Amino acid sequence: MPIDPTLPYDDENIFAKILRGEIPSNTVYEDDWAYAFEDINPQAGIHTLVIPKGRYVSWDDFSAKASDEEIGGFVRAVGEVARRKGLVEPGYRMMANIGAHGGQEVPHLHVHIFGGQPLGPMIW
Ligand code: C5P
Repeated sequence: MPIDPTLPYDDENIFAKILRGEIPSNTVYEDDWAYAFEDINPQAGIHTLVIPKGRYVSWDDFSAKASDEEIGGFVRAVGEVARRKGLVEPGYRMMANIGAHGGQEVPHLHVHIFGGQPLGPMIW
């Protein structure tokens, strides 16, 4: 069920548990600001999720409350994941589902990175 982005951050959400190591995940990249792991239900040949380590539900939350250092670190991490996955050439798609109309299911901000195949105009 899509989330209500106005709700406060839930420390028991599944990505919070992944960050704490309570639920296993297939790590792609980690630094001080971000953690990246393979999506459990891939929608493309490569489907990796990148999440900030901070407690942010949505892009609104993140852009309004995160420090410039956190935002910069997260943006750099997304680029680093694309490089590590070998996606810079021939390219890839990054997207984030935000809130109810965006179809966001997990209430911890995450960017999807899709690649490994021609993707067409849109996946979802
Ligand atoms: O953007 P949205 O919230 O809809 O996407 C959540 C994503 O988290 C889904 O692609 C789902 O497959 C993924 N997921 C995961 N590992 C989990 C739970 C969900 O990779 N344990």
